[in-house]
Amino acid sequence: MSAEMIADPATTSTDRAVLRVDGIVKEFDAGKTGKVVAVDDVSFTLNRGETFSVVGESGSGKSTLGRVLVRGIEATAGSAWYRGDEAADEIDFLDLGRRELKRVRRELQMIFQDPFSSLDPRMTVFDIIAEPLKATTRVSTRDLQRRVREIAERVGLDPSHLRRYPHSFSGGQRQRIGIARALITEPKIIVADEAVSALDVSIQAQIINLLKDLQDERDIAFLFIAHDLSIVEHISDRVAVMYLGRIVEIAETDDLFARPRHPYTEVLLSSVPVPDPDAKRERIIPLGEVPSPTDRPSGCHFSPRCHYATDLCRSEAPPLAETRDGRVVACHRADELTLRGIDHDPTGEPA
Ligand code: SF4
Repeated sequence: MSAEMIADPATTSTDRAVLRVDGIVKEFDAGKTGKVVAVDDVSFTLNRGETFSVVGESGSGKSTLGRVLVRGIEATAGSAWYRGDEAADEIDFLDLGRRELKRVRRELQMIFQDPFSSLDPRMTVFDIIAEPLKATTRVSTRDLQRRVREIAERVGLDPSHLRRYPHSFSGGQRQRIGIARALITEPKIIVADEAVSALDVSIQAQIINLLKDLQDERDIAFLFIAHDLSIVEHISDRVAVMYLGRIVEIAETDDLFARPRHPYTEVLLSSVPVPDPDAKRERIIPLGEVPSPTDRPSGCHFSPRCHYATDLCRSEAPPLAETRDGRVVACHRADELTLRGIDHDPTGEPA
């Protein structure tokens, strides 16, 4: 491949970088079948105030990556260099001991996928929202009450809601409670794992707009983990595509959707519904079945399913590397293939 390999993705770091994820690996023990490598050497940079989305099918490792980054589970290897204040030194968030983690954790919060199960049914809304602040900061009762009321109001909850329990709320309102809980500590980064996928479409739009407004106000960086590409296109500045634990492409959102460079990205985009019912867009069906994560194919993991695979693809894993025209792709044939994206012209015809 003619592309220049990205030896150190940290070189993409900018003054705006709030998190540099470097070589994260997460393995799970799978008993007799060996190990499952759920996340395999993943690196990227997250900038202040941006929305960086990670997409991929179920089993791609994207949710595991999110849980590793908020220390919900421990990484097998790798670092996540965090710099909350632009003037401060970076610290490896994944290497912090318990006491330091408690101090820094308020700056990195998570919104969960399922608003129905992520809220403790025995706690009042007030206690749910207050909990992360109480756990990480010394705060007087008076200040706590003021801050909970302020954040509840900002996300569209009524003060009377604070005395109630989660079961008395709709899905959209529960997700607002989850957002208030994530925001109360004034985080610099929010990891949102399928944050709107359990909601009705009209409520999804409200929550997305709320998240965007909050991001603009507070310069929060969002790591948005999702499978719905229509939403991802709408909200993201950049997108990473994951397949069987590896990032196979990272791009600016417009570039990725109009001109995908990895064959797996092309497959994903071909499944996005076209708004115009008369527009015809052929869905690209990958070959074969999704391989088991316990038995990932050698070489390029996508090779058994790829319509463009060659012998080289089956024997050698392509590095995530820069193409001749500056795109970042893990494909031996990235420089020569012309792949189909989504053209948003009114005819609805694909590019
Ligand atoms: Fe397909 Fe080969 Fe590229 Fe893998 S490296 S995506 S098999 S063309």
